[in-house]
Amino acid sequence: MSPAAPLAAAWEAAPLPEGWTLPDLLRRPQAEVRALQDRLLARTVELCYDGHPYYARIMRAEGLEPRHIRSVEDLTRLPPTSKEDFLNDPDAFVLDHPDLEQDERTLWKVIYTSGTTTGLPAPIRITTRDHYSYLWACRRREDLVPVVPGDVIASLFPLTKFPMGAYARAPDEAAACGAGVVFGLTGRAGDVFDVHHALDAAVAHVARHRATILWGVASFIRRVLIRAGELGADFGSVRMAMITGEATSPAMRADMRRRMREIGCAGDLICNRYGSTEQGSSMVECAEGSGFHALAPDQVFHEVVDPDTGARLPDGEAGQLAFTHLIKRGTVLLRYLIGDHVAIDHAPCPHCGRTSPRVASNLTRTGDLVKVRGMLVNLRALKDWLEAHPQAEEYQIVIRPEDPDDPFSMDALVLRIAPSEPPSEALAAAFAEAAAARLHLRPGVEWAARDELFDPLRAVKPVRVVDRRPSG
Ligand SMILES: [Zn+2]
Repeated sequence: MSPAAPLAAAWEAAPLPEGWTLPDLLRRPQAEVRALQDRLLARTVELCYDGHPYYARIMRAEGLEPRHIRSVEDLTRLPPTSKEDFLNDPDAFVLDHPDLEQDERTLWKVIYTSGTTTGLPAPIRITTRDHYSYLWACRRREDLVPVVPGDVIASLFPLTKFPMGAYARAPDEAAACGAGVVFGLTGRAGDVFDVHHALDAAVAHVARHRATILWGVASFIRRVLIRAGELGADFGSVRMAMITGEATSPAMRADMRRRMREIGCAGDLICNRYGSTEQGSSMVECAEGSGFHALAPDQVFHEVVDPDTGARLPDGEAGQLAFTHLIKRGTVLLRYLIGDHVAIDHAPCPHCGRTSPRVASNLTRTGDLVKVRGMLVNLRALKDWLEAHPQAEEYQIVIRPEDPDDPFSMDALVLRIAPSEPPSEALAAAFAEAAAARLHLRPGVEWAARDELFDPLRAVKPVRVVDRRPSG
């Protein structure tokens, strides 16, 4: 056990905020958690009816009053909110009600959503009450997120032009858990003040501060591990990587664990997190492939809905994940569609026994199914294999017209690979043959520099599949 363990126990002994949560929340019978959720939701709906510009309008348009939504069951009467609804007018999602107490209306900070197609980030307002509830949830998460007092977290999220949720919340989480935090501060150089670090400087920072936890977007953490190996950096204190920001395959996580062992990390634990800036809470796998547990069912309610009808779907049926804020008082979202295709499971977890619902984490993404030369191909198998391949440090799958001057020529599938050893004809043939066995289609192989395929200083996440065919 680490010397931090006794401290961690004392840290855990915080009093429960009365009326807002339940002891041992993640293992309570569902009915008890539902009763708490119903009570908290009813209050939030009352506040929204008179103080939330967007939901006040929607509820009136639907002929709904607070008495119609007294429980999470009743919530299905409200149409889901799409990302577009929110992005069109983010200010209409901020609660303003005369009954709010001072800490419920004081603005603590603003963070921004990323990943919007418009490129324009939308502000998420966080009140003092919201901030405290976030800290509380971080402190209560048991071993699902095993950050303990004494840990040193290397936050390897990029410094962006607007405060990303993950970047802005990392110090909060460290503070709540009694951990220290250092920043990699990578990212694109600023126009006036260039305060960014290069990748190698971030790697050196991890070693210098003897960080115990690496935290960042999965592909970037993987690149840090690769670079640390090349530089011979001392990562002997690192015992865990917390990854988030993109879906990862079991193969990629296995690759990361192997790299952690190879460069002499103290442990090879991967904490796989799934969250969204809007939600204000992340979900975590308790074991490889367990599905992501809801960590704060006293703060956020999850459901899977049919995006066309808004109907709630039963367990096991795939649809869109929607969440509802139960106690948030700044930017408040009800039945908000995150945009991810998942299925939910309310059965007790077979791995850990917790009763908090889980979201299935390894469904095939629709983007992995593509037609090449008229044949439906699942690129997932190819991606899994490439992500586990020790000779492929980065990769990209490109589908393009065979003849660049003739957009209507046959499709060509090309693997662009940054090899870990000097490229050769034999290596290219080995890649092409192994890929052909998985796809029943022989791809071309091209070599590329690592940063050509994913430059972590310019992009937050890599683009693994590129379709250059003319659309339509
Ligand atoms: Zn579990």
